[in-house]
Amino acid sequence: MEYVATIGLETHVQLKTASKIWCGCANVYGSRPNTDVCPVCLGYPGSLPVLNREAVKLTVMTGLMLGCEISRYSKWDRKSYFYPDMPKNYQISQYDMPLCLGGQVEIDVDGAKRAVRLTRIHLEEDVGKSTHFERSSGVDFNRAGTPLMEIVTEPDMSSAEEAFAYLQALKRILLYGGVSDCNLEQGNMRCDINVSVRPADTDKLGTKAEIKNMNTFKGVFRALKYEIERQKKVLSEGGEIRQETRRWDDDAGVTSAMRSKEYAHDYRYFPDPDLMPVVLTEEQIHSWEESLPELPAARRARILSEYGIPEYDAGVIVADKAVADYYETVARLSGNAKAASNWIMTEMMRALSEAGIEITSTKISPDALADLIKLIDGNAINMTGAKEVFNVLFSEGGDPKKIVEERGLAQVSDSSELESVVRRVIDENPKSVEDYKAGKKVALQFMMGQVMRITKGKANPQVVVPLLKQILDA
Ligand code: ADP
Ligand code: ZN
Ligand code: MG
Repeated sequence: MEYVATIGLETHVQLKTASKIWCGCANVYGSRPNTDVCPVCLGYPGSLPVLNREAVKLTVMTGLMLGCEISRYSKWDRKSYFYPDMPKNYQISQYDMPLCLGGQVEIDVDGAKRAVRLTRIHLEEDVGKSTHFERSSGVDFNRAGTPLMEIVTEPDMSSAEEAFAYLQALKRILLYGGVSDCNLEQGNMRCDINVSVRPADTDKLGTKAEIKNMNTFKGVFRALKYEIERQKKVLSEGGEIRQETRRWDDDAGVTSAMRSKEYAHDYRYFPDPDLMPVVLTEEQIHSWEESLPELPAARRARILSEYGIPEYDAGVIVADKAVADYYETVARLSGNAKAASNWIMTEMMRALSEAGIEITSTKISPDALADLIKLIDGNAINMTGAKEVFNVLFSEGGDPKKIVEERGLAQVSDSSELESVVRRVIDENPKSVEDYKAGKKVALQFMMGQVMRITKGKANPQVVVPLLKQILDA
């Protein structure tokens, strides 16, 4: 029998606010354990939470970017559970009245475009982080009270590839909006996977398993591949899928049963009496909407019309906000938009990936790359020399003009200077001359290469090629 998979994701995203959601403690990563804490985020009895409006703003901005309906009225609920990372024994979250409803994320899997529908986005507080040592465990509460958005999808995806594309698309939008750093190593984005399998000839969704707290996209992908196959196997052997929470073991590449699933009623949700509901006016929502930055689709369209580069280039460039920012500066300063995209898409991306760094930390300033392009366009340097300058800039930074001077890379365009070299190459390569006269085009390229070798790559091909032809054809 044929089986199909159904996947829904619940993604937790830490918001980029200066302080935590209910107190003034810094929202930063990497401090010494339990130093960014106070009675509120440690859950001392009698302490009272005060809402950080910035967290609401960033959540609403996210909702606006994703086409959600923004609730004019939403409220806070206590989700009760007992766990060492949660000293109050309840987490403040939103149960039945979240900040955002509906919305969607556009995904593209191998050219097939579709939308993944969202159910809701709510805001809650992150909890502490447990670490297990050999003989004891510790809890770091620096993370407790970090504003955390939970973005829930409909059961709308059907493959690991789609789930992966969804997470990438979501991350891209969140980065564009500046609402989160989306740093996966720092746990800024964590994801619960819900997955079920059903026979292809029914519409009724199968029983789902939930895999908790994945913190790499690659892990999500692999866990789904594994879990979908596992469920198919269980069903095809006549077994039943238990509704349960499973753990992904990244080293072993398997999921294993962790506990039976908890239900909403297990959490005893009830409205938090310490916090007022959130009431948003049209004006407030509108002013947040005004503050939204340009999003990828709009930016792509603008870059296409403003710079006239190919669609493919525009797509590659807007995929990463930092790359798009860099590109626009180089295109503007160099006055050569296509050269700017060529350099960034080939040399720059290759060098970045080899060095394992992001464009934000490259030593080549956009000004320097623009200057390099101007040197090429002004015939001061040829492509071979330019690539050398690029590599120097990439490893050391600096000014392209100076590098050209220091390394003697200036292009030779003077035809009388080049003529002697061309004549020498013709004299030394009678076989190539013969081939050229017999109509073999490669012979010309070979002689061109010899001229380049003798001039150490500095000859201007636009002068050499006509010169070669002129002498050979004479
Ligand atoms: P729960 O009762 O476990 O909280 P929800 O209905 O709230 O379940 O859904 C939680 C997540 O699981 C959502 O992302 C949803 O899309 C997804 N989901 C729900 N039912 C299924 C299913 N049968 N198979 C796969 N995913 C599902
Ligand atoms: Zn605090
Ligand atoms: Mg639920």
